[in-house]
Amino acid sequence: MRVNITLACTECGERNYISKKNRRNNPERLEMKKYCSRERKQTLHRETK
Ligand SMILES: [Zn+2]
Repeated sequence: MRVNITLACTECGERNYISKKNRRNNPERLEMKKYCSRERKQTLHRETK
């Protein structure tokens, strides 16, 4: 049930992180504050399709 996901910056669209999640535990799109290397600051990152 664990699937690979990509986390993209919601401000510039850069895909900064690759992660895994359990679809049963997190059916919704994952969102988390992460450091964006392009903007050099913390932004909200969201799971891409
Ligand atoms: Zn960014």
